[in-house]
Amino acid sequence: MRVLVVGGAGYIGAHICKALSERGDTPVVLDNLSRGHRHAVKWGPLIEADVRDVDAVENVLTRYQIDAVMHFAANIEVGEGERDPLTFWDNNVGGVIALLQAMKRAGVKPLVFSSTCAVYGEPDTLPISESEPRTPVNVYGRTKHVVELMLEDVSRLGELHYAALRYFNAAGASPDGEIGEEHDPETHLVPNALKAAAGLGGPMHLFGDDYATPDGSCIRDFIHVMDLALAHLKALDRLMSGAPSFACNLGTGSGISVKEILNAVERVTGMAVPHTISPRRPGDAEQLISDTRLARELLEFQPHLSTADTIISHAWAFHAPRWRHGDADTLPGPA
Ligand code: UDP
Repeated sequence: MRVLVVGGAGYIGAHICKALSERGDTPVVLDNLSRGHRHAVKWGPLIEADVRDVDAVENVLTRYQIDAVMHFAANIEVGEGERDPLTFWDNNVGGVIALLQAMKRAGVKPLVFSSTCAVYGEPDTLPISESEPRTPVNVYGRTKHVVELMLEDVSRLGELHYAALRYFNAAGASPDGEIGEEHDPETHLVPNALKAAAGLGGPMHLFGDDYATPDGSCIRDFIHVMDLALAHLKALDRLMSGAPSFACNLGTGSGISVKEILNAVERVTGMAVPHTISPRRPGDAEQLISDTRLARELLEFQPHLSTADTIISHAWAFHAPRWRHGDADTLPGPA
């Protein structure tokens, strides 16, 4: 298959390109490189263009005879969305409108869309099933929710055939160390904890230790990025087999607290994680844990790599040599 991966130079998109290529599919990446990295595109052509450029996207769809599309080109940092909502609406919603217009013109119907557990907001029940009310509490979640509504409308007319995958917390790196998480600035927990352990950038901020959880810190459901990639392949195959459009959570069903992640980083790296307790971060839900039944049923999906220690050791194997090689003269060796 030839798959257009919009945002394939970014963290999750690049891991999916690798997984597609490893099983013999061809990923064609379209990315404006505003956040992604040219060096992360290794498994097929890179078309440097913005997804909001309908003509450019239509051109790629026809020129490469694309069979299906995957979309990852979104602004994802919750705090940034609160500070600059218009940019989020423009890119996250406007980008998908343009993509759907180009797909319609080119006659390409299958779409795997990267959605998020942020569409549920503060859930009433845990674990969170797909039937939980979708009442997002931040701009990021609202833009993804609105796109899901748009996909429902467009697919009803038979113009689109989609899977919306609601990720919980993607983390880790490819087990061979080839690619990993490289956000700039980095806001995510696992890379920030590793950075602090490596002595880079000072102590990490632990946002809130007064939540109503056993240790007071937030609880998240961490899914290894290669498990996530595998689930995307299964979702794509389900669409291509003619199954109806669907939305599905992707998580592990197990919650891990922020403090437990810091303990796991200390265990894996052999180094302490210097941190300070900071106020709660606006927009953070207390606990997000996925109900995994639908993913098991529809996709026969079971995560294999998604333990805290495996996620952290793969992330550490990716980052440590780069940090040692770069600005990290202070980086001590693992104990
Ligand atoms: N977190 C933290 N310090 C950081 C980054 C994250 O305490 O430097 C916490 C954050 O408040 C949340 C959890 O770690 O409770 C996961 O945050 P992340 O940004 O990794 O993912 P999100 O849940 O926002 O998608």
